Amino acid sequence: MGDISGEDVLPGSELDMSLIDRIIDPLPPVPQIALQINCPVCNNIFNNKYEFMKHFEKVHLRISMNDSVQRVTIQQ
Ligand SMILES: [Zn+2]
Repeated sequence: MGDISGEDVLPGSELDMSLIDRIIDPLPPVPQIALQINCPVCNNIFNNKYEFMKHFEKVHLRISMNDSVQRVTIQQ
C-alpha cells in the first residue's frame, strides 16, 4: 500500500463507489412462480393477479355505475 498516498484519494471517492454499487445492484428477482391466487368465491386457482382480477370481475362482480358510490355485489 506504499505507492498510494492518502492525499491523492479524494475523501468522497469511497462514498461515490458505494453509491454506484447501489445503483447498479440488480433488484432481487420477484418470485412470480410462487404467486397463486385462490378465488374466494369459486375456488379456482390463478397463477397471477391479473388473470384472477379478470375472472373475478367477469364472473363474480357486478358494479353499478349509476350510484355515486360504486356498489359491488358478489354473486355466488
Ligand atoms: Zn371465481
